[in-house]
Amino acid sequence: MAQHQFQTEVSQLLHLIIHSLYSNREIFLRELVSNASDALDKLKYLTVSEEKYKNISFDPRIDISFDKDAKTLTIADNGIGMHEQDLVESLGTIARSGTKAFLEKLSEDVKKDSNLIGQFGVGFYSAFMVAQTIEVISRKAGEGEAWKWTSDGKDGYTIESVPLQALGSPQGTQVLLHLTEEGTEYTNRWSIEDIVKRYSNHVAFPIYLTYDEKEYDDKGNEKASKTKTERINSGTALWRRAKSELKETDYLEFYKQLGHDSEDPLFYIHTKAEGTLEYSTLFYIPQKAPFDLYQVDYKPGVKLYVKRVFITDDDKELMPTWLRFVRGVIDSEDLPLNVSREILQQNKILLNIKNASVKKLLGEFKTLSEQHKEKWETFISQFNRPLKEGLYQDFANREAIQELVRFKSTTIAGWTSFSDYASRMKSDQKYVYYITGGDERTLKASPLLEAYTAKGIEVLVMDDEIDEIIIPSVGKYKEWELKAVNRAGADEELGEKQDKQAEKENKPVIEKLKKALGDRVKEVKLSRRLHDSPSCIVADEHDPSIQMAAMLKAMGQTEMPDIKPILEVNGEHPIVTALRNTEDEQRIADTAGVLLDQALLVEGVKLKDPADFVKRLNRLLMP
Ligand code: ADP
Repeated sequence: MAQHQFQTEVSQLLHLIIHSLYSNREIFLRELVSNASDALDKLKYLTVSEEKYKNISFDPRIDISFDKDAKTLTIADNGIGMHEQDLVESLGTIARSGTKAFLEKLSEDVKKDSNLIGQFGVGFYSAFMVAQTIEVISRKAGEGEAWKWTSDGKDGYTIESVPLQALGSPQGTQVLLHLTEEGTEYTNRWSIEDIVKRYSNHVAFPIYLTYDEKEYDDKGNEKASKTKTERINSGTALWRRAKSELKETDYLEFYKQLGHDSEDPLFYIHTKAEGTLEYSTLFYIPQKAPFDLYQVDYKPGVKLYVKRVFITDDDKELMPTWLRFVRGVIDSEDLPLNVSREILQQNKILLNIKNASVKKLLGEFKTLSEQHKEKWETFISQFNRPLKEGLYQDFANREAIQELVRFKSTTIAGWTSFSDYASRMKSDQKYVYYITGGDERTLKASPLLEAYTAKGIEVLVMDDEIDEIIIPSVGKYKEWELKAVNRAGADEELGEKQDKQAEKENKPVIEKLKKALGDRVKEVKLSRRLHDSPSCIVADEHDPSIQMAAMLKAMGQTEMPDIKPILEVNGEHPIVTALRNTEDEQRIADTAGVLLDQALLVEGVKLKDPADFVKRLNRLLMP
C-alpha cells in the first residue's frame, strides 16, 4: 500500500468546499453522477474511435446503492475507469489549469470565497461533505489490474492493488462513501431519487437505484425483504439530440412537461452551437401569454443545464426580462457545474449564450412575421407588449425590435409596423406621427387628428398604456423622428405658419379666452391642426400628456405637479369667430369653459368639475 500526500491546493480546496458549500451538500451526488456519466461518455467514444477498444461491448449504466446499517453509499459506473497513475493525477492533484491561480486569489474570508468557488467545478471532493472516508475502486478499460484509492480527505490518501472481483464490472469505477452522521440522510430511497430527478434526470445514461423493499404479512409483521433495482432518471435530454432524430410530437410533448402547459406551443427553436462555445438551446413560444407575465415575481421560463445536469430554473438573468414569456432550456458544455448565482450573472460564457439566444429569437420572430401570417397575429396579440418593453430596455437590439412591434393606424385596419408606415409616408414627410392616451376608439375620434386626416398624413394609433412611456424614449425610427400629435410642436408640417392676417384677426379672441380661463391652461393658441372641431388640447413639448399625468396620479405619484394643457382653438369655427364681436363677460367665460372641457372630454379625460361644465353649457343653450 502506498501512502500519498495531497497536493497543497487539494487540501485548500477541500477545506473551502466543506466550509462554503455545506448548506447545499446534496450536490455531491450530482457531481459523482456527472463524473460517472463523463466516464461512460469517454469509453463509449473510444469503443467507436479506437481499434484497441472496439471489442469491448458494454451496456453503459450508473448504479447507486446504499446500506443503512453500514452507513455507506455507493455510486458505480462501467465507464473508462482509472489506473494507478490516473488515480494519483485525478484524485490527488488539481490538474486543471487556472485552479492554482484561482486558489491563490483566495482570502481567509470563507464567505467571499464561496462566491468565487462557483467559477469552477468542485467535483469529486465535494463528497467529503458527507463522507468521513471515501474508497474508490477502479479498473481502467482494457487493463488487467484494479486499484483502490482511500482517503479521509484530511491530508493524504493510499493506493493499493485489489483483486479484480472487488469491482462488480469488467471496467469502471465504484465510489464508496463511508458517511458521516449527517450523511446518513442519504441512505434512503426517497432522498436519492429526489436528488437524482432534480439534478440528473436528463443524464444520457440510465441511473439505477438498488434498495430493499420489505414485505409484510396480513398481521403487519415483516415477512421478507426483497432487493429491487429501478431506473430513476428519464434520460431524455431532448435538446441534445439531433434535430433530424426528433419528430414534431417529441418537441410538443416535451414542451407540455417543461412549460406546464396543456396547449401546444406556438412554435419552437432548437439550436446547437459548436465552435468556440458549445451549447444547445431549445426555446418555445407559448400560444398564450403566461398568467404571471405582468407580475413582478413572475417565474422565469428558461432552465439552465450544464452538460445535461440541471443547474437552475429560477434565474431571471438567463433571459432579458422582456423575453420572459419564452420557455425552454439552455445547456452549456463550457460552464462549471457548480456555477453559483452570483457568478452566473457576470459569467462571460453565459452572457455570450444569452446574447446569441436573443439574436436568434429576434431572427425567428422576424421570419414568423414574414412567413407565417396567422401565427404572427397570435404572437402579436400576446407578446406585442413585452416586445415594446424590449424597445425601452434593450438598447443593443432596439433596431431589430423596432421591426417587430405593431401598432394600429388611422389609415389601415389591423396591425401595422414602423416599416409599413414608412413605406406609406408622403415623399416630403419629415416625421412619424403617433397619438397616445386612450383606447383605440377615443384616439381615432380625437379632433387632434383632423388636419392630419385632411392632409392625408397617417398617424399611428397607440392605445397601449405603455406606449406613452416607451415611444418618447425611443425617439426615432430610422432617420425619422417620432412625433406625438397631442403635443405642441407636432403641427409644423400641417401648413404654413398661420398667416399674419389670421393671427391678427384672432388675437383679441385668444386674449379673451386666456383671461377667462386663467390658470386652468398653460396657454391658448390658434390651432393649425383642427378642421371640424372648435378646440383641442395638447401637452407642452416636454410635459407628460394629461392622460399620463392622471395615470401617474392614480398610481400614487402624489407629488406630481399639476400638468396644465395648452388649449388650441380653430380660428375659423363659428363658435370661435362669434367671440370676436362680443364683450359679454359671462358669455365669453361660458364659451371658454365649454371649449376647454369638451376638448378634455373627447380625449377621454375626466372633468374635475362636471357640474360647472353642465351649468355653462345650459346657459349657452338657453334661447
Ligand atoms: P472534474 O470532473 O471537474 O474534472 P473531479 O474532481 O470531479 O473534477 O474529477 C477529477 C478527475 O477524476 C476527472 O476529470 C476524471 O478524470 C477522474 N474521475 C472522477 N470520477 C471518475 C469516474 N467515475 N470514472 C473515471 N474517472 C473519474
